[in-house]
Amino acid sequence: MVKPLIEEFVERRIYSCRHCHGNGQMLMTPAEYAKAKQAHNSKRAKKIAAGKADIGDFPPAVRRYEAKKPPNPECPKCHGEGIKKTLLRDTRTLTPRGLYAFAGVKLVNGRAFVMYWEDGVIREVSEA
Ligand SMILES: [Zn+2]
Repeated sequence: MVKPLIEEFVERRIYSCRHCHGNGQMLMTPAEYAKAKQAHNSKRAKKIAAGKADIGDFPPAVRRYEAKKPPNPECPKCHGEGIKKTLLRDTRTLTPRGLYAFAGVKLVNGRAFVMYWEDGVIREVSEA
C-alpha cells in the first residue's frame, strides 16, 4: 500500500505534556529549572533585603521534563492525549517520489510552508 503523498513532507508526533510523568508536579527541562531557580533566588534576596519574610528555598528538581516520552494515560492534565505536533520533514531525505512532487518551500511571516504537486495542483503544508 502506498502511503499518502503528504506524509513525504510532514509527520505527526505526540509528546508527553509537562504533567504526564511529574507525579503531581509540573516538570521542567534543566535549563528552565535553572532559570526558575535563579528568578526565585533573586526574588528571595530582594524580600530578605527589604526585611520581609523569607520565601524559602526553591523546591528541588525531582525529575526533568522529557517531551519524547509517551503520554501517560493517568496524566491529570492531558489524560493521555499528550501534546500533538505536525512537523515538516527534512527535505534532504525525500524519497524519489517526494522529490518528484516537491515544489519548494516558502516563508510567510517566518512560518515555513512546503509546497508539492499532487493531482496537477500545488498543495501546501506547514507545521502546527
Ligand atoms: Zn499529560
